[in-house]
Amino acid sequence: MKSCLFCRIVSGEVKSDIIYENDVLIVFKDIHPIAPVHVLIVPKKHFSHLVEMVESEEGRTVLNDITKVLPDIVRSAGLENRGFRLVNNCKEEGGQTVPHVHFHLIGGKSLSRELP
Ligand code: 5GP
Ligand code: ZN
Repeated sequence: MKSCLFCRIVSGEVKSDIIYENDVLIVFKDIHPIAPVHVLIVPKKHFSHLVEMVESEEGRTVLNDITKVLPDIVRSAGLENRGFRLVNNCKEEGGQTVPHVHFHLIGGKSLSRELP
């Protein structure tokens, strides 16, 4: 999608600090990190949000692909010996600001047990 920020990051048109990449996803540093480690796991194919993604066979396959390489992503983020939080904000009311599905991988410090 030409107008989508994360599609433009995937294509390389918008620069990002990529820490991991394979055929189906890229992982890059969040521009406004909320913790010492804050990266975004982003499927290369455009799905607007998580529900749209899992409603399609292809999206479910991509989600499965993400789970398969999660240990590699965690290692690339330097979190292999630590805990972390994996977050998806789904749609506007869920706090999603970029309408291209993504997962926040957050860590590098002790995180509050409280969820908003
Ligand atoms: P959401 O609010 O949709 O769950 O997360 C979007 C995230 O994308 C935010 O944490 C925001 O800081 C990050 N972000 C927005 N624009 C850019 C950008 O141009 N580059 C990078 N690397 N991150 C961005
Ligand atoms: Zn997109």
